[in-house]
Amino acid sequence: MLENFLSFIFKPLCPLCQRHTHHIICEYCEKKLLSCKLSNPQISINQNYFLFVWAKYDNYIKRAIFIFKYDKAKQIGDFFGQILAKEWLKYNHLTNNKNITIVPIPLHNEKQKERGFNQSQLIANSFCQITGYQHLPNLLARVKNTDAMFGLNVMERQTNITQAFSVGKDYSKFNRQHSVVILDDIYTTGATVREAIKVLNILEINVIGVIAIASSLQSIDNEK
Ligand SMILES: [Zn+2]
Repeated sequence: MLENFLSFIFKPLCPLCQRHTHHIICEYCEKKLLSCKLSNPQISINQNYFLFVWAKYDNYIKRAIFIFKYDKAKQIGDFFGQILAKEWLKYNHLTNNKNITIVPIPLHNEKQKERGFNQSQLIANSFCQITGYQHLPNLLARVKNTDAMFGLNVMERQTNITQAFSVGKDYSKFNRQHSVVILDDIYTTGATVREAIKVLNILEINVIGVIAIASSLQSIDNEK
């Protein structure tokens, strides 16, 4: 009762700074996050798939992703999906193709239970609400409960993620006319994405690209 009364008279708090706000994130924090946006979100890494990244994994973005995942501020996923979709829709040559299915990188059941949600799935959900693409959060399943990737070198990351994925329960819902775009929160060495693509390719599913909120790739520094 008291809680209802208090939430009625007080606006919700911004998860990043605890100021009261009518939005998911307050104007002040939104401005800081928007200042991290890359001027060109398309990063060339190889010819097999495109990489579309919203920001460099640094500063405010790094902190916001941390609070989203580890302080369990689920609402930040909606915000990330919205800003990604807004940027994506500016790039018409990528949006002409409506036969796209968005597949977020899945978490292992135990990790998802512990966190309470899959951060990439929340971002993908909000992204697809705006773009209208099909969203299949369980086209892939995570069968190996991998260690956290930070602190691991390139070789250790590769070993850690090898055979981490398998086909998931959404497989029967996949439209064979579609191509897949994978969505992850952070793109680092690409080891996770490559492992996911391997499984989809075995199923003869075409993967055309990867979307991420942030990346720590060195090449981003040159492009900014
Ligand atoms: Zn704030």
